[in-house]
Amino acid sequence: MFNRNNQAKIDRKQERLDSGFMASHFPDVSSIVISMLYKEKGIANPISRVVNFSPASHAFFKVDCLSKDCIDGGFDMTRLITSMINNRSETSSGELGCDDSGPRPDHANITYEVAIQYS
Ligand SMILES: [Zn+2]
Repeated sequence: MFNRNNQAKIDRKQERLDSGFMASHFPDVSSIVISMLYKEKGIANPISRVVNFSPASHAFFKVDCLSKDCIDGGFDMTRLITSMINNRSETSSGELGCDDSGPRPDHANITYEVAIQYS
């Protein structure tokens, strides 16, 4: 089976590979930690997730949506993290909705905290 969702996942994998490494894009950054609480409509218990980035990580800040039928959605933190690094800002928090442009808007959101350490 090769559905749209699989294609979106493959595209995303390629995008991640193309993104390059943290060390070359952001040489001053020693670590980034994204802590989030993922909430999906219709699911009672939020899921807690932590994503860590080191200088050897790909500089790819899109977090996958966990919703099974989400098509090409996710939480794009690229702009937030890039501007934090530009301002040498260490922490930030907020909320983001899933980017999915499919038939179910607002099916998932995250409450996040980003912590960046500079070398
Ligand atoms: Zn989604």
